[in-house]
Amino acid sequence: MPLPRQGRPAEEILAALERFRERDLPWRSGRVFAYVFDGGPDLMEIGKRAYTMYLTENGLDFTAFPSLMQLENALVGFAREHLRGGPEVVGNFTSGGTESIMLAVKAARDWARAHRPGVEVPEIVLPVTAHAAFHKAAHYLGLRVVQVPVDRQRLVADADAVEQAIGPNTILLVGSAPCYSFGTVDPIAELGELALRHGLLLHVDACMGGFVLPYFRRLGVEVPDFDFSVPGVSSISMDLHKYAYTPKGASLILYRDHELRRHQIFACARWVGYTMVNNAVQSSRSGGPMAAAWAVMQAAGDEGYLRLARTKLEATRRICDGIRGIEGLELCGEPVMSLVAFRSRDADPFHLVDEMAARGWYIQPSLSYGGLPPHVHLSIAASNAPQVDASLADLREALEAARKLPPPGLPRQLVEPLAAAGDAVPDPAALRAMLQMAGIGGGGLPERMADVNATLDALPAVLREALLTEFVNEAFVPPADGS
Ligand SMILES: *Cc1c(COP(=O)(O)O)cnc(C)c1O
Repeated sequence: MPLPRQGRPAEEILAALERFRERDLPWRSGRVFAYVFDGGPDLMEIGKRAYTMYLTENGLDFTAFPSLMQLENALVGFAREHLRGGPEVVGNFTSGGTESIMLAVKAARDWARAHRPGVEVPEIVLPVTAHAAFHKAAHYLGLRVVQVPVDRQRLVADADAVEQAIGPNTILLVGSAPCYSFGTVDPIAELGELALRHGLLLHVDACMGGFVLPYFRRLGVEVPDFDFSVPGVSSISMDLHKYAYTPKGASLILYRDHELRRHQIFACARWVGYTMVNNAVQSSRSGGPMAAAWAVMQAAGDEGYLRLARTKLEATRRICDGIRGIEGLELCGEPVMSLVAFRSRDADPFHLVDEMAARGWYIQPSLSYGGLPPHVHLSIAASNAPQVDASLADLREALEAARKLPPPGLPRQLVEPLAAAGDAVPDPAALRAMLQMAGIGGGGLPERMADVNATLDALPAVLREALLTEFVNEAFVPPADGS
């Protein structure tokens, strides 16, 4: 696809970009319960202005751009007080939860190399509710994952199961505050005790809750201790681009002290070029997200965030009450935060998601895993609050409609060979043929996703992963017509 021979006028380019997003989720509507955290037009505006102001500054070299180091230290300084850490707590700014987690796992790995030389393949113990980013980090960094079930009633990590999974190669335990799926907070105090008793590190994934749980506590919610006040907690990840409503590309990783954070840093002087020392995974990086995060937080202020927290807390309570009041629906666990999961006793969850989509809502399907059934997830932001009643009314209707539909799933001739494969993964050509048969070859997706979701749901995780990989490998190719 060649570039235009002559540059195009700005208005035309921007109009084209506007057209490209016509089919994107309409997040401004308040009818999207995932992906976008919208704190309102004022925060959006200051975020945009600060972002573009620092768009071009490069975080690669803090000696060239000391303003970025100043902003980073200011953000970490706020976060360590927010998470009740002492003056010995240090940390860095990253591009998101995944990068924060990647760095925490790398620091743990390299800490273990220094302090646990007998360990060859280090292990990380993960409750099934721990975020996929930990699996990604383990995969990238060569660690082994040992997965443990959660308490089926309360949907929080089971400290006994975690302790049983600890072996001679374990280096890191993980708890979530809260976990993404259910909004439930793991027993961090118990995990901290385990970490201390076994000489292990404990990472608390507070990507969702780190920023907002302290506000919920101030509003009277019973929030279990999850931060640096808990003995044994060695690192915490906290996203800003979720419930601090800052533009995307903003998260923080905090460590209990310099000793541990040292293992996060990468320096390289063995090449022909500039001397390099990086805190984060990214090297060249825009100052935009950091400046925007700082600016949005200054603009909202403590009172602004308390107001936003109250709005989502009330919205969450109304949604939970509404779900409890709908015959046939049940909440999964008791969310401490504004993350809610529910399921239906008599309707297919994937049909329910499609029926809601047909009514203009985005709610998120979640496949069964680790002995837990499939469910529907909502991440509730302040901007969803005005839509709560309308969403509940449509949820009733969608449930009625979903009940009337036949069970979803793709044709038997497609599913049977997959089921027969067990945990064995068919070769890529066979997987592509299956995607073709399912009508999703070449990266296109049907309007209604229930058949695809139900089929994935019936397969073991390794097969789901293989199919998803093949699907994406097919989907991301430039169009033949050059458009
Ligand atoms: C969102 C999230 C992550 C990953 O963060 P990204 O910013 O999407 O990379 C990790 N853990 C939890 C609990 C999350 O909600």
